[in-house]
Amino acid sequence: MARIVVLGAGFAGLWAAIGAARKRDEIGAGSDIEIRLVDRNPYHNIRVRNYEADLSETALPLAQLLDPIGVTHGLGEVEAIDPVRRQISLVTSGGGEMLGYDRLVLALGSEVMRPDIPGLADHAFDVDTYAAALRLDDHFASLGRSTPSPGRSTIAVVGAGFTGIEVAAEMPERLARVGITGSRRIILVDPNPAVGATIGAHAQPVIETALASLDVETRLGVRVTSVEAAGIHLNSGEFIPAQTVIWCAGMRASRLAANFPGARDRLGRLLVDPFMRVADLPGVFAAGDIASSVVDGLHPTVMSCQFARPMGRFAGHNVVADLAGQPMLPLRIDWYVTVLDLGGWGALYTEGWDREVRAMGAAAKATKQTINCKRIYPPLSGSKDELFAAAAPTVQAPPPTYGAR
Ligand SMILES: Cc1cc2nc3c(=O)[nH]c(=O)nc-3n(C[C@H](O)[C@H](O)[C@H](O)COP(=O)(O)OP(=O)(O)OC[C@H]3O[C@@H](n4cnc5c(N)ncnc54)[C@H](O)[C@@H]3O)c2cc1C
Repeated sequence: MARIVVLGAGFAGLWAAIGAARKRDEIGAGSDIEIRLVDRNPYHNIRVRNYEADLSETALPLAQLLDPIGVTHGLGEVEAIDPVRRQISLVTSGGGEMLGYDRLVLALGSEVMRPDIPGLADHAFDVDTYAAALRLDDHFASLGRSTPSPGRSTIAVVGAGFTGIEVAAEMPERLARVGITGSRRIILVDPNPAVGATIGAHAQPVIETALASLDVETRLGVRVTSVEAAGIHLNSGEFIPAQTVIWCAGMRASRLAANFPGARDRLGRLLVDPFMRVADLPGVFAAGDIASSVVDGLHPTVMSCQFARPMGRFAGHNVVADLAGQPMLPLRIDWYVTVLDLGGWGALYTEGWDREVRAMGAAAKATKQTINCKRIYPPLSGSKDELFAAAAPTVQAPPPTYGAR
């Protein structure tokens, strides 16, 4: 029996595993191909929702999604991958383990960059993973019970890109939920001279309006020099007293991408062809944030679930097709949108690679909620047919725009 191993159960890995099972079923190879998924967690995290106040539906048990379609799954920390021997070193509850494969789909995602700043590792929170989001949740609960002080009601969010803006905009609601209102302060810190510098000139004025209406302050053109339990020091000399520091400054591909020879981009991503094959590595496919693929002849994928999900579906289809000697399908995506949550103000919907504003406020928020709560969820019915239908190697239409300009 040939073995396909999928590493990672995020937006790329989950869909690669389901897509592979779908193709295996289509060609009647159920008894010839084992599909095995490995993740450090027993759940699929709807990672894009980790900044939200209600995390109750953001960790979906893998057994519910994979058992109905005959994908085996195990818990393990991937330590190293040897593409020459086709072996993966895992740390599991039983100790070390080596797992061999005939074909591999790498979907280990990305992580927030944590530079070597004094105090950062000990005192800063983030929303990169479900575990981190739960930790932040616990912190908010304890803030709600603690004695009032300026530091208690001040939140410093570091990084004014997509994630940091969404986090900052959500903070009035988060503080209100634990009974902190009135004198609260939310401060967004970034080394760039403008908020949303990486998002683009069309979006910036809208983001600024939204943040101003939510009373989010900014400290721009500055760097964090150290983090303490009581606040952060900036290179401007300012100390911001804040018992809550949330680090959202930059993403990088999984460090395990470095196990492979060959080209990587500035984010550490492996370059893959339109079939999701890693260049010069027979039998290795990669999808999601760990990979970069040119999707429309010109633009490389952006780290996002928007691209990770179709990359996963196509990688899953193609890895089985490759094993079975059948033609593979290229991934081509002709559209690109972003939908940025702006908390109580609403959201911002942009279209195209120049990120032209298409909708904002409550109209864009309706789209964001459709995406976060419906569009990116796998079917939860346990129906094999529904899971396979959702994993077909096709590209969805863009999300709906309500009230588009
Ligand atoms: C707060 C936040 C908001 C976001 N908002 C948006 C948004 O609005 N729109 C959008 O498109 N994107 C958004 N993103 C980005 C999006 O979440 C990622 O692009 C997406 O999750 C990438 O999918 P992936 O499958 O490649 O990686 P992931 O979803 O990160 O999955 C990787 C998986 O690999 C596992 N893993 C990693 N390393 C190991 C290891 N060594 N051993 C075992 N398992 C391992 C992890 O547990 C995880 O399950 C957001 C991200 C964050 C953090």
